[in-house]
Amino acid sequence: MIHIQNITFSYHVHPVLQDICCHIGKGDFVALVGPNGSGKSTLIKCINGILKTKDGDISIDGLSVGAYSPNAMARKVAYVPQSENRKQALTVFDMVLRGRKPYINWKPTGYDFEKTAHILQLLHLDDLSMKHMDELSGGQQQTVMIARALAQEPEILLLDEPTANLDIKHQLEVLELLKTLSEQGMTVVVAIHDINMAVRYASHIMMLKGGQVFAYGKKNAVTAESIEMLYGVQVEIIVREGTPYVIPGGLSR
Ligand code: ADP
Ligand code: MG
Repeated sequence: MIHIQNITFSYHVHPVLQDICCHIGKGDFVALVGPNGSGKSTLIKCINGILKTKDGDISIDGLSVGAYSPNAMARKVAYVPQSENRKQALTVFDMVLRGRKPYINWKPTGYDFEKTAHILQLLHLDDLSMKHMDELSGGQQQTVMIARALAQEPEILLLDEPTANLDIKHQLEVLELLKTLSEQGMTVVVAIHDINMAVRYASHIMMLKGGQVFAYGKKNAVTAESIEMLYGVQVEIIVREGTPYVIPGGLSR
């Protein structure tokens, strides 16, 4: 469904992504992990077409990302950036309704309002519906941005560190939701630092190092050796019910 073929990207002179190749299937839940600066955010922006790759090609359902019109792209792919100005004087309802923009001709229809209301309920945001964005906590704002992305009814959902500002309960809620959506057929790609959460929820782990794919596989890609080589830290792995858990030791010498 998403085909990434030998892409290279640079902001300036030095390539930030180098020769990345992979296939992400419909309904896959891919966790992008790797050190700070390894290219996770850049790769997500390339998949979304916000950044144009220099060499190689990214196609979605057989069509190059650059060939989609902005509206067609927005119906296909929703993107939740790591941070953006969310302190707007918009109500939560209006913020989520904005996700319907690719479908709205000149005014929202009854379906647009119903869809917005349904998603607010799904994410337990209905009580906050008439609050302004700047009255919410960081975690609540983050949940609203995910709701806005879902209002786009995308086939592919890209999220850049969606759990970074959330307490443990809200992290679990967001990841459970993403897992459910992927099981229903949505393709989900998430940049995430917490490897244990990645292993627990994602169907695939893609490890990026220095702009290259270091490893791409299922849970078994997570080994003490791969984590040590990726991050330069020593770890112990314990396996419980088939799932590996990473326990940090110390910095590698
Ligand atoms: P990650 O999300 O894995 O932390 P990024 O994709 O943000 O990594 O960054 C990858 C590399 O690209 C880093 O070396 C970073 O400094 C550089 N970079 C990111 N954004 C820009 C930008 N807008 N202009 C120039 N360099 C950038
Ligand atoms: Mg990033």
